[in-house]
Amino acid sequence: MSLLDIRNLTVSYRMDGVDVRAVDQVDLQVGAGEVVGLAGESGCGKSTLALAVTQLLPRWTNVAADRLMFDGIDLLTLDERSRRSLRWARLSIVFQGAMNAFDPVMTIGAQIAEAIHTHEPSESRRAIRDRVAELLAQVGISPRRAGDYPHQFSGGMKQRASIAMALACHPDLVIADEPTTALDVMTQAQILDLIRRLADELGLAMLIISHDLTVLSELCDRTAVMYAGRVVESGPAAAMFTGGAAHPYTRRLLDCYPQPGAGRASITGIPGGPPDLAHPPEGCRFHARCAVMTPECASIQPALRDVPGSRGHIAACHLIGGDPR
Ligand code: SF4
Repeated sequence: MSLLDIRNLTVSYRMDGVDVRAVDQVDLQVGAGEVVGLAGESGCGKSTLALAVTQLLPRWTNVAADRLMFDGIDLLTLDERSRRSLRWARLSIVFQGAMNAFDPVMTIGAQIAEAIHTHEPSESRRAIRDRVAELLAQVGISPRRAGDYPHQFSGGMKQRASIAMALACHPDLVIADEPTTALDVMTQAQILDLIRRLADELGLAMLIISHDLTVLSELCDRTAVMYAGRVVESGPAAAMFTGGAAHPYTRRLLDCYPQPGAGRASITGIPGGPPDLAHPPEGCRFHARCAVMTPECASIQPALRDVPGSRGHIAACHLIGGDPR
């Protein structure tokens, strides 16, 4: 059984009298101890999916699914009290934008301690202080810095501290939303190393969200790619990042970044922009930007199909064979 099991998840926002489906019929599973990546351009629904799982969406958002389960617990039917006790204790999130994720008038140590105290009120102050020191050391920050305020931390240190905060209550699953955005390349590499090391050492399951496929190629066992609210490809990261990407969108996304070992290949962008989700197009949502579209692409929505010769690998494109799922 998967630790996180999402089937047919749809999340819609009502805007100007129109339902905008930010996440549309998405399936995604994360096993215990597995690191899964979720990729796609800004606005494709990645962060909305993370907020739906952590139950942090505004009340006026409409969330529907055939299944939204965490370790056998139905997240859709939880009351607010149960959600609060689950969130952070078993299921935590590293928010996008670590720069703004901390309260500027509380020390870093006090903020991590508050999370522990909220979920483990019987813990002594001393035990919590020791745990904060241990967490900071675990992410490479001197425990002596626990008394510093967020503005005294660099961007990389704030990102490390937000990871420490997410680990504070020993969760089973951590969702990291764009964990390296806004960091310089060297700091980015250090944070990626840190995340992978912690996932391995602690046996954590992680869902890592990024628009940058190179980040996911460093970290993940499996990756799903979203486009305009839908998953268009999903499979083993090793296959997808070593020339085995099957969906034209994933291939174009990979072409946007330098590939290690690819020599002097030129980097290309993807022409055009994602469709307006208030009025999504018929057929394949990528067809207006796809260099290999066929006439049926503009009218028939492709189903996710098995990619021939690649186990556990599916993609939604009319050019891909296999049995329709
Ligand atoms: Fe391109 Fe058609 Fe495949 Fe969509 S279904 S990615 S438009 S070839």
